[in-house]
Amino acid sequence: MSTIREKVDVCVVGAGHAGCEAALACARLGLETVIFTVSVDSIALMPCNPNVGGSSKGHLVRELDALGGEMGKNIDKTFIQSKMLNVSKGPAVHSLRAQADKAEYSRAMRKVLEGQEHLTIKQAEVCELLWEDCSPSEDGAAAGSDGSQGVFEKRAVAASDGSQGVFEKRVTGVVTFTGAVYECKAVVLCTGTYLCARCLCGEAITYTGPNGLQAATHLTDSLKEMGIELRRFKTGTPARMDGRTIDYSKMEEQFGDERIVPFSFSTDPESIQKEQASCWLTYTNKATHDIIRANLDRSPIYAGIIEGTGPRYCPSIEDKVVKFAEKERHQVFLEPEGLHTHEMYVGGMSSSLPEDVQLAMYRTVPGLEHCKIVRNAYAIEYDCINAKQLYPSLEFKKVKGLFAGGQFNGSSGYEEAAAQGLVAGINAAMEIFGREFLVMDRSESYIGVLIDDLVTKDNREPYRMMTSRAEYRLLLRQDNADRRLRKKGYEIGLISEDEYQDLLCKEALIDREIERLKETKVGAGAEIQAFLERHESAALKTAASLAELICRPELSYALIEEIDTGRQEAYQEYASAEHVRPKYFTSDGKLSQEIIDQVEIEIKYEGYITRQQRQVEQYKKLEKKLIPADIDYDDVPSLRIEARQKLKEFRPVSLGQASRISGVSPADVSVLHIYIEKRGSMK
Ligand SMILES: Cc1cc2nc3c(=O)[nH]c(=O)nc-3n(C[C@H](O)[C@H](O)[C@H](O)COP(=O)(O)OP(=O)(O)OC[C@H]3O[C@@H](n4cnc5c(N)ncnc54)[C@H](O)[C@@H]3O)c2cc1C
Repeated sequence: MSTIREKVDVCVVGAGHAGCEAALACARLGLETVIFTVSVDSIALMPCNPNVGGSSKGHLVRELDALGGEMGKNIDKTFIQSKMLNVSKGPAVHSLRAQADKAEYSRAMRKVLEGQEHLTIKQAEVCELLWEDCSPSEDGAAAGSDGSQGVFEKRAVAASDGSQGVFEKRVTGVVTFTGAVYECKAVVLCTGTYLCARCLCGEAITYTGPNGLQAATHLTDSLKEMGIELRRFKTGTPARMDGRTIDYSKMEEQFGDERIVPFSFSTDPESIQKEQASCWLTYTNKATHDIIRANLDRSPIYAGIIEGTGPRYCPSIEDKVVKFAEKERHQVFLEPEGLHTHEMYVGGMSSSLPEDVQLAMYRTVPGLEHCKIVRNAYAIEYDCINAKQLYPSLEFKKVKGLFAGGQFNGSSGYEEAAAQGLVAGINAAMEIFGREFLVMDRSESYIGVLIDDLVTKDNREPYRMMTSRAEYRLLLRQDNADRRLRKKGYEIGLISEDEYQDLLCKEALIDREIERLKETKVGAGAEIQAFLERHESAALKTAASLAELICRPELSYALIEEIDTGRQEAYQEYASAEHVRPKYFTSDGKLSQEIIDQVEIEIKYEGYITRQQRQVEQYKKLEKKLIPADIDYDDVPSLRIEARQKLKEFRPVSLGQASRISGVSPADVSVLHIYIEKRGSMK
């Protein structure tokens, strides 16, 4: 066995979407970091849909970018089509989605990792975690899993960052398949869909990770030995077709947007305007559904061979045909896997039916009559955790220094994974620096909603983000992610001084322009009345501010330019201000669309935004009410049995978190509140 023994700060297990963000965060904060993967050729692999973003997922990517993550920049470099979704609806659900050139996406992320100081990439399977015990009674002395002796103190206070440090163990390193030992101060587990993975295509079962890559078959036992509970989840992917065998004349072409909006706030919009690839829309039909129904007995899902639980919101075509039997057809999107391949992804038809059934079913779809399958559809099962074992910091409640992110936490999706990876990486670094953890609540970000749902709710299937999950979604728009989170990224140290100054300039320009529009009044003169009549807008009885006019549904910031005589002058004044950033002005001296969008949304939705901000104040009251770390729920009088059980199981950090645990009623929360207050006053 290898005798290599290395000392580093952080080990990140996994170079998928979560692992890449975690490792980059740690290395960029100056920590010696090693990122492990079973294959360096699969860094940031997209084993499923060839796109980043989409409804609510676009929000996650923008938030990640605002905090200093990489995914947004990486997709801006490698997209082949871009579209802003839901533009016919309100700004809260506008969401960017970009088709990626998968191979380029992986190559570009690998280049970033290889160019990162303090970061080492290692192709090796991590088989074991090293740890030391830290039981409360042993003050000072602890025996490690590898026999090393260490000194430990028990921490039993509730920290404001949501960790309640009654740890049983502390992680000290990892061991690879060859026996190499990497001692470290923190480990971030981002193993995705690889742990004890098995792939199912009808009766054919292979014990591999996605795309035939090696599965990671050893770490599960080590985690179980540490007392970590694991469970089986599954997900599935459709076949990939040879594009030369598809008849696109039978499909509807889907185009990207004319004006491309970048994911990253650091990307110059002008630099990414380019020709785009198309996607294609077709539909299943009765013939497709009949073939599926006739072969359900050969489906590993319906034959009960698959043990893992699959994502309700990414159903296989078998599930769709069975669960929505009344539907005559289901949408099928043909999406290019990249510019340098003929492979086409068949979105909407993931399956684990046998190969022959797959070919028959796909060939019933208009345009696919003569298709050739390059890669079969398949389902994959893998080990992951129930994230209720984690604090909102994504640190394990039982193991100090052990963090987790991505699909391993029971989520599904590249974006969900990357967002968690970034937070887990940042907090591993904060742990080492002894700094406050990054914990965002539900009113601050979709990432806050994602992590709170994962660690507070008993998710029994892979968790996928949706806008409906975010109760304060009007505040958590994708367009203002930088205004909500960039300061946090700057304080953590992942956002540069220059990027932060950009934000300050942007904020100042938005505030000044809103103020000007609120203070600039127009009278009910003939010219204004004529303008309003032309735009079928009610005549003015008395003077009104330009902001009041913008609030009218039939009017907009762009439309009122005609009567906003002071606009150019205002722009010149803004542009001559000290420290102004030229990026927020167009080549002809106007405010950029990015600024105008913020101004218009803030004015048009002011009432709704204010109301939601009041709701957030209410919400924050309970969030701020921390629960003492060493609370004994058996001591709390008149708590209902179910609530007592759930509170003991989850050990929530605040009354707010307690109120979201299913089985804990508002009455239980008040009982708890009174008990904590009383205890506080007795101290
Ligand atoms: C077949 C399939 C279908 C999918 N379908 C969907 C879908 O329909 N919708 C959706 O939203 N998402 C889907 N996904 C999920 C999506 O791919 C993941 O959400 C995303 O890739 C998760 O990112 P991650 O970083 O958590 O893990 P992954 O991208 O899986 O990366 C895990 C990394 O960990 C490494 N690794 C694991 N164990 C070890 C170890 N012990 N030692 C060293 N390295 C290790 C691997 O090499 C890899 O680099 C699907 C995934 C697959 C495989």
